[in-house]
Amino acid sequence: MLPTAVREKLAVLGGPALRNFPVPVWPPRSQTTAQRLADLYMSGDWSFNLAGQTKEFCKDFAAYHDADHGVLMVNGTVTLLCALAAHGIGAGDEVIVPAVTWPATAMAVKYLGAKIVFADVEPTTLCIDPTKIEALLSQRTRAIIPVHLLGAVADMDVIMSIAKRHDLVVIEDCAQAHGAKWNGRAVGSMGHVGSFSFQQTKIMTSGEGGICITNDRELHSRLYRLSHIGYAPGEAMGHYKSKPDADLVCNNYRCTELQAFLLREQFEQFPKLIDTYNRSLKYLDDRIANIPGVRVQSPGRLTDRRSCFKWTVIFDQEPLNKIPLDVLLKAINAEGVPMSRGYPPVYRHTLFNLPPSDYVIPDEGCKVAEDIAGARAAGLFHQWLGAGDDVLEAIGDVLTKIASNSASLRAMG
Ligand SMILES: *Cc1c(COP(=O)(O)O)cnc(C)c1O
Repeated sequence: MLPTAVREKLAVLGGPALRNFPVPVWPPRSQTTAQRLADLYMSGDWSFNLAGQTKEFCKDFAAYHDADHGVLMVNGTVTLLCALAAHGIGAGDEVIVPAVTWPATAMAVKYLGAKIVFADVEPTTLCIDPTKIEALLSQRTRAIIPVHLLGAVADMDVIMSIAKRHDLVVIEDCAQAHGAKWNGRAVGSMGHVGSFSFQQTKIMTSGEGGICITNDRELHSRLYRLSHIGYAPGEAMGHYKSKPDADLVCNNYRCTELQAFLLREQFEQFPKLIDTYNRSLKYLDDRIANIPGVRVQSPGRLTDRRSCFKWTVIFDQEPLNKIPLDVLLKAINAEGVPMSRGYPPVYRHTLFNLPPSDYVIPDEGCKVAEDIAGARAAGLFHQWLGAGDDVLEAIGDVLTKIASNSASLRAMG
């Protein structure tokens, strides 16, 4: 027997909303951090220095992700660009990118003049489908960029074995997966380079920012030079001694010490945040398992510590699979839960304006990206996972209420 509130008329049809949630605070703020930030501000040491915030943060963040080196940059788009450039990828090369991701993953390929090759995604994880990769390889394929999307980790075992077989570079796009682990290994440390974003919506943030991590000392040096207008790691400001490799087009993508400081402050709290998120994800997944019509995004075959950018559900089962997603979302929003549509395939994204000659779509199309990720998935920003047990319970109640009112929703659609 369902609780009374769940059996009420839907809010979108004039019934009472199940909940009226306050929006959880993000990014986290504290007076202590504000005071310490003020001290750093007064110090005037805002750009890079060898003993500063940036150096400490890079070391700690890389170590937490099983990597020896980190290079902090201005955002998680140029980190992808540098990860590709560090491998000499450019005009005439092809790079495989999942059809479902933030447009930046594909744009990084374009900035270097290489061709974007879109691969379809798995219906379970919504991450790149490794069984679709080999059919897309050509003589020109140089790299794969698996994206650990929303709340899942791409199948790194299969991807790495394909890469090994065909001598391909693997750049992990971890912008949505800080802290996740796959089979005991942290994301970002399994491929050749791991790229993260610290943009304001991500689960660790300095407003803007990004980092490349790697276990390869030579790659670290190339990444550092690429983003520090040619400086080598360890060279103090104004005291450059050695020349970058001739093939590197070095730029200035450095982040400020103020941002690195904010990241260090958040990093102290990060293990606790990840624990909370993992507990909340488990609760929600168990709760949703019993609701007809909806399933949760799978975290990945061997994912043993989860991360989350958006908690994501997929409405592709009876009795909700025939109701348009916009109708479902309108009803869910009216009950007090601000879920929103998942990503369309990149090549259909409003912000993506490249001509078809810049990219390749597989002959059979990207069916899962089109019909599931883009049409039946919806997500809730990660900060809701930290909003407390009563909020989690209510999210379950709202989806229960939606499922048990599918007949009236179908009439609406
Ligand atoms: C956010 C994001 C990026 C880009 O990071 P920015 O810091 O916003 O430049 C790249 N890839 C994915 C998957 C992202 O979510």
